Amino acid sequence: MMSNANMSPSWWLHLDMNAYFAACEQQYREELRGRPVGIVPVISENTGFIAASYEAKCFGIKTGTRIAEARRLCPDIRIVEARPRLYRETHFAIISAVEKVAPVHEVLSVDEMVIRPWKNESQLSEALRLGQKVQDAIRYDVGEWLSCSVGFGPSPFLAKVASDLQKPRGLSVVSPEDLPNKLYGLKLTDWPGIGKRMEARFHATGVFTSEEMYQLTMPAMRRIFGGIVGERWYRLIHGERVAMPPVKRWQIGHSNVLAPEFRTRNGAWSVACRLLEKAAERLRDDGYHCCRLSVSVEGLSRSRETGEENSWTKRVKFAPTNRTLTLLPTLRSLWQDDIAKPIQVSIALQDIIPDRDVTLSLFDDPSEDRIETTVDSINRKMGRGTVTIAAALCSKDYLDHARIPFGPPHPLPSGRPE
Ligand SMILES: [Mg+2]
Repeated sequence: MMSNANMSPSWWLHLDMNAYFAACEQQYREELRGRPVGIVPVISENTGFIAASYEAKCFGIKTGTRIAEARRLCPDIRIVEARPRLYRETHFAIISAVEKVAPVHEVLSVDEMVIRPWKNESQLSEALRLGQKVQDAIRYDVGEWLSCSVGFGPSPFLAKVASDLQKPRGLSVVSPEDLPNKLYGLKLTDWPGIGKRMEARFHATGVFTSEEMYQLTMPAMRRIFGGIVGERWYRLIHGERVAMPPVKRWQIGHSNVLAPEFRTRNGAWSVACRLLEKAAERLRDDGYHCCRLSVSVEGLSRSRETGEENSWTKRVKFAPTNRTLTLLPTLRSLWQDDIAKPIQVSIALQDIIPDRDVTLSLFDDPSEDRIETTVDSINRKMGRGTVTIAAALCSKDYLDHARIPFGPPHPLPSGRPE
């Protein structure tokens, strides 16, 4: 633990509100304080929580847990419908409170921000005091139930990693001297940015722990993930400040030219369901939500003479989601059953945004009711979701195991279509 004062880093602070939506409700509704609380976008047994209070987390309930399952785990759980406007207003109150003691460098989402201390507070001890002041300011100015964890690191990325080390109300440091030993305990998927897909790549090269990841040289990392991504990841975990690349992908799609036995209305529907399931799985693996579903079906042309187009494309926008069970009823609502001999089905999840930006988009939306109305209309059309899943299962073997594979993903157009 050699520390050289001349080489002391300037510290970055990453502030992460603890169980933010649940904490807001506990702040403004006294009867919820100290109780297990789950926040849902709309009251419906099929919905998953978008936040859970720490009291609920003690029962194994977390973001994504379905209401029915949560009731099994904790019969006393209080289910609360989200109030995005309240969270948004509280967010601005939090920023004002923080700015009284430290400059907010970047707001990452409704409950996360990066703080850059002033130069005269660049020593760790001073930065830590600053972190404490930030926590106090939020508690006094906004509310005692609004707690946050603050991470300290030589880069915004490592500060974020640090903020995850201790919750709630943590003040955790990842210093250059701590690298990499202090992070050996992290599972690969504990790292912000490592999803299931990236984890699988590590596994394929025999890397299963953070310690093994740190043993990789930059050339090795470049080999595993391709030049730019691998090099960037190497620099990030070693504490360098690396600018995040803009999100380049805007859709995840699958297309399939139907095998002859699937060139029926039911066959096309079944394939569409399975394509959607696969696309949604990839969306989740890659750490994205989507805000739009596009589906198209092409049939054999009815008339070469008239050139009549025997195909259709439909798309719809909705609140960010990455859940198959939310997307399947949406697909059903778009579906047109009027092509007798379909030959190609295409599905695309569009307007995709990184998971970390999802709460931001919630808070950006001035209409409080957007999520509710979207989910409502989906639920009205939903019926029994299991019927839809069964439809997808019909084509599962065909799409997943038959020799006719998935078509390639949609080629990425140069711009966003409207
Ligand atoms: Mg948080």
